[in-house]
Amino acid sequence: MGKYIDFAYIKTNANFPAVLGHYNIETQGDGDEVRCNCPFHDDETPSLSVNTDKKVFTCHADSCGEKGNILDFVNLMEGECGLREAAECLAEISQIPCAKPKPAGNNRRQGKSGKKANRKNGSAYSQTGQKKGFKQGKKSVNPEAEAAVKAAFEDGEPLFDDDDDEPDDSLKPLSFQLTLDPNHQYGKQRKLSASAIGRFEMGYCTRGLMSHRWCVPIHDQHGDLVAYVGRFAADPVPAAKAKYKLPKNFKKNRVLFNLNRIAGYADDVVVVEGVFDAIRLHELGIPVVALFGSSVSDEQIEMLTQYFDCVHVMLDGGANKARRKLVDRLAQAVAVRSVVLPDGDDPESVDEEFLREKLPEFVA
Ligand SMILES: [Zn+2]
Repeated sequence: MGKYIDFAYIKTNANFPAVLGHYNIETQGDGDEVRCNCPFHDDETPSLSVNTDKKVFTCHADSCGEKGNILDFVNLMEGECGLREAAECLAEISQIPCAKPKPAGNNRRQGKSGKKANRKNGSAYSQTGQKKGFKQGKKSVNPEAEAAVKAAFEDGEPLFDDDDDEPDDSLKPLSFQLTLDPNHQYGKQRKLSASAIGRFEMGYCTRGLMSHRWCVPIHDQHGDLVAYVGRFAADPVPAAKAKYKLPKNFKKNRVLFNLNRIAGYADDVVVVEGVFDAIRLHELGIPVVALFGSSVSDEQIEMLTQYFDCVHVMLDGGANKARRKLVDRLAQAVAVRSVVLPDGDDPESVDEEFLREKLPEFVA
């Protein structure tokens, strides 16, 4: 799994003198304002001014005029390697992590807010943020049973047996993994990058319930695989086929897609409807989770309040009624902000420029 990169955290905590030293750039002047020969044009005089406190630079030569922030600086120095790579490079030079480190223990809220911790008592969550009795079942699975379950699933059996009527608070981790083809043309059709396909371990499934579908694994907040969602891998989707398929008994309202990748690493989160929306924003370095739709359950709200201080709602453009309903519900539990997309757009398709403008704190 690729690591989560918190651009805002890196830019705030990066060290400009360390960056200049790393590239052997000599500076003149003391304090926060220094000058140096511009590395982006053939410079005889010190044309580049750097404010090491604000972490910005400007070249004063008319022929050049490069300027930007510390991340832009590293990106340019690395031959425009791209902002993700530049951010990782910048973090390394500055000797900082790529995102705010998790405090010790599993629950970042522990100790920070007694109120929040107390609210967890009597709920499905223990103080550590782990579901009670959650991890135990997994280890007992033997390879034969695993193969049998996988075969049954591929033969079209329901994914979970629902023969017990006991209310079950936990999501059962899957005991098998589907064999998926990451190179199937649907990935390219959907404009999914190779890195996104690898990071999210997506691919095309040829057998069973999910056959002819592009499948995305779904994990719970601890990173345990709990289901797959399958998108029919051709457009237009035939009338007889569901566009998206989830296992019949999968409790989607107990999961926030992508939470496992960002839990504890971000204070703010963007909430979107679909997994492909989330995948796109995650690849841009935006902390994001998907609801599997436009409504939110109490369990999902609980997770949002447990892990985040502020929620930015970004539903598909045009879903005004659903958005207002969702914002009203969330606002009772957590700070919430609404990002309205143009009609007909969704977070997967909307211009990067739009995201940059509406989510300046996340998109570098
Ligand atoms: Zn210059």
